[in-house]
Amino acid sequence: MSLSDTIAAIATAITPQQGSVGIVRLSGDRAVMIAQQIFYAGGKQVWESHRILYGYVKHPLTKNIIDESLLLLMKAPRSFTREDVVEFHCHGGIMAVQQVLNLCLEQGARLAESGEFSLRAFLNGRIDLTQAESINDLVGAKSAQAAQAAIASLRGKLAQSLKYLRVKCLNVLTEIEARIDFEDDLPPLDVEWVKAEVMAVSKESQQILATADRGELLRTGLKVAIVGRPNVGKSSLLNAWSRSDRAIVTDLPGTTRDVVDSQLVVGGIPIQVLDTAGIRETEDIVEKIGVERSRQAAQSADLVLMVIDATVGWIEKDTEIYETICDRPVILVMNKIDLAIIGETLTPQPPLPKGERGSKNNFLLPSPYGRGVGGEGLPIVKTAASQNQGIEDLEAKILESIHQEAIAAANMEVAINQRQKACLLRVVQALELVQTAINDQLPLDFWTIDLRSAISAIGEITGEEVTESVLDQIFSRFCIGK
Ligand code: GDP
Repeated sequence: MSLSDTIAAIATAITPQQGSVGIVRLSGDRAVMIAQQIFYAGGKQVWESHRILYGYVKHPLTKNIIDESLLLLMKAPRSFTREDVVEFHCHGGIMAVQQVLNLCLEQGARLAESGEFSLRAFLNGRIDLTQAESINDLVGAKSAQAAQAAIASLRGKLAQSLKYLRVKCLNVLTEIEARIDFEDDLPPLDVEWVKAEVMAVSKESQQILATADRGELLRTGLKVAIVGRPNVGKSSLLNAWSRSDRAIVTDLPGTTRDVVDSQLVVGGIPIQVLDTAGIRETEDIVEKIGVERSRQAAQSADLVLMVIDATVGWIEKDTEIYETICDRPVILVMNKIDLAIIGETLTPQPPLPKGERGSKNNFLLPSPYGRGVGGEGLPIVKTAASQNQGIEDLEAKILESIHQEAIAAANMEVAINQRQKACLLRVVQALELVQTAINDQLPLDFWTIDLRSAISAIGEITGEEVTESVLDQIFSRFCIGK
């Protein structure tokens, strides 16, 4: 992959018959020349930077008109890649963009590799690594909150905090090294200052680390299974939930014939509902399949909504289903509460199987209801699904059940990803070693070794110190044209 090539790619999603505009992007030294060979702008239009030209893309030899389009010219360094960039805003669908791209390639451009535009923007100092990664997050965002966190990173919020921490560490390192090299010529090292600085960086790193769970939730979301006996109201619950104003619903093709997956958003967290309710067969078979299906759905879920019929209360069959999900966090949904006579509802508490639920009931990190089981009981929500009642409570309980730190970290704008988390963990560990070295009064060399590891781990997040293989890994996850 040569960085001196001029690269080209289709920058918008391409689907036949969809999208009124499709964009082909060129970047590199020859971008303008290539564009001038294939784009005919009529009248007195001038090829000036940051202008839009109107015209036709034509084959330079056959003069065949390929598309009527707009051309946007951005000369270096005032472009995303800091190279000359030309964008053809063509008609949408597949054919126009594909043919314009082919023409660019015929004229000497090379097809861009995944993420190569962003890689160039990074290598040319236009953005740092956290900003580059946030582009991917923004494009993949499934909720407004996920997009918001990505935008914060894209605007450099994470980069700024990290650069500040790195500079702090570098200052401390300089002071210590100066004492190693010129001990006699300098005043003694202010050890208390060193300790305070190291402590401050460590504390702030941990605060940023706390956003990782939220980041993970915003990116990948939660899988929620709705289980329960036939006719307790599972389908009705999903219907009411997906029709509620707060939910954005898209139907995903189910992975199996009977399971209908729906995508909702609750509190900014994308939720994939693995619905087990779609089966309608004879009662006997349904009962049998129902148990097995609950087991399967529960196994792949992060959280299980166990629906029972409030007019009937907890019965033997519920226990059977409950046992299939016993290593998953559960919210008990008492449905048909509109029909239940107040005070007459049977106790909804399931008998605790084999006394070990509590310890296994982990959800992300120690679950808020791990302790509740057997003591305060499972979290319970009362709903009347067919009347669209109780959905708000259900959502609140779901959010409550999500790791507490993830909610606390919601105050922070950014939300780090797994790669950034791994690096930050190394930062915190290295800083702990520095603190130990100071407290144990080890020679100064020992302090600097770990301080350097911390500095390089921060640099790996921002891209100030990063290897080619890490870059490959990051940018290969991008799609072509980004
Ligand atoms: P599923 O088999 O668990 O998916 O149950 P359904 O959602 O198909 O519901 C079974 C029956 O119960 C249907 O006739 C629903 O209209 C009714 N139903 C569901 N939820 C409620 C509720 O909250 N109140 C009342 N009164 N009826 C409900």
